[in-house]
Amino acid sequence: MNKSIISKRVQRISLSATLEMTRRSRELRAQGKDIINLSIGEPDFNTPDPVKEAAKKAIDNNITHYPPVAGFRELQEAVSMKLKRDNNLDYSPEQVVVSNGAKQSLANIFMSILNPGDEVILAAPYWVSYSDIIKMASGTVVAVSTGVEKHFKIQPEDLRKAITPKTKAFLFNSPSNPTGMVYSEDEIAALVAVLKEYPDILIVSDEIYEHIHFSGKHVSIGSFAEVKDQVVIVNGVSKCYAMTGWRIGYMAGPKFLAEACIKLQGQYTSGPGSISQMAALTALKNSPKDSKYIHTMVSAFKERRDILVELMSKIPGVITYVPDGAFYLFPDVSYYFGKSFKGEEIKNGYDLSMYFLNEANVAVVPGEAFGEANSIRISYATSKSLIEEAIERMKAALEKLK
Ligand code: PMP
Ligand code: GLU
Repeated sequence: MNKSIISKRVQRISLSATLEMTRRSRELRAQGKDIINLSIGEPDFNTPDPVKEAAKKAIDNNITHYPPVAGFRELQEAVSMKLKRDNNLDYSPEQVVVSNGAKQSLANIFMSILNPGDEVILAAPYWVSYSDIIKMASGTVVAVSTGVEKHFKIQPEDLRKAITPKTKAFLFNSPSNPTGMVYSEDEIAALVAVLKEYPDILIVSDEIYEHIHFSGKHVSIGSFAEVKDQVVIVNGVSKCYAMTGWRIGYMAGPKFLAEACIKLQGQYTSGPGSISQMAALTALKNSPKDSKYIHTMVSAFKERRDILVELMSKIPGVITYVPDGAFYLFPDVSYYFGKSFKGEEIKNGYDLSMYFLNEANVAVVPGEAFGEANSIRISYATSKSLIEEAIERMKAALEKLK
């Protein structure tokens, strides 16, 4: 037997580039190399203590049996309450499905709605797993290029042009991974004006970075009355509560879609772990407005963003900008393409990322993974001193290119 047994479904997707760069960093570290990992998007903060306590209590109270497929009723209620409290959205607990991370929520949604050839529109650059999840679900990715001059935001006229009779969904992400850009209320309203003309297009709104926002307030596209019945919200506790390893995300949307996701999840994973669910319940019960924890984390990210942008803007040829949210910068580094090191040409973002990894001991993610080959993604969810050291190393490596 050989690898031809592997299905076309798996053959048409790639390894997650973010997780793959992190795997390589771990491997090089294990070999004794001093790698600074700016590739993975996860807060370097620890999970809040009360959340950890809730998990310990869940174990002691033997909450260790199969939970309901859609998640514990208390957690569905807490999500419903959170969506009202933080986003002014009305979703009943029955419209909520809790999953193994927002990643599984996205997979559930696309597996539930897509048939072969159905199209999903998204703005490029986009988060690496969107395109592969859509492909895994037999859909076709319709990536609309944006670019730094459009602040990496999809324009209403470009959205309209991308819509065809095969369009099944529009995938929206603000604050954005990989660019950190945040759409204003007016910019969302302009997209809504287009989408409301197409009531059969599902709007999948990934709001996982909602609280990691440095200017103003997060606005959910679901809060626009004209499209609210078309929207499914995807969110989770990974980023804003520093709970990446607990694997809790959720969707809230039309009841028929929640039911389809429950059907799928019931056959696939049976839902997320009971202990993690009890931890997430504690996280979501506290309003982010009163959460010192979230304030501390967000102001640390803002400070690091400022340092990173300042340092990057001093590197000749790098095109940078100021992101308003999340913890990523996506600078254009194409100035260095065509230059060489020891006779090896740097042809693209992938080559440059490998060069940084091997010559500067810094891990970043190539822009190709996000549908934009001229850039690299830098995650600044790490300490100021490591950011400074990493940029110093990258700058020195770039100076060696001929
Ligand atoms: N959406 C975006 C935009 C992300 O960056 C991530 C991070 N992995 C996810 C969804 C999924 O997060 P998780 O599965 O950890 O909830
Ligand atoms: N979302 C994070 C990232 O973009 C975590 C890794 C992943 O799930 O892809 O780096």
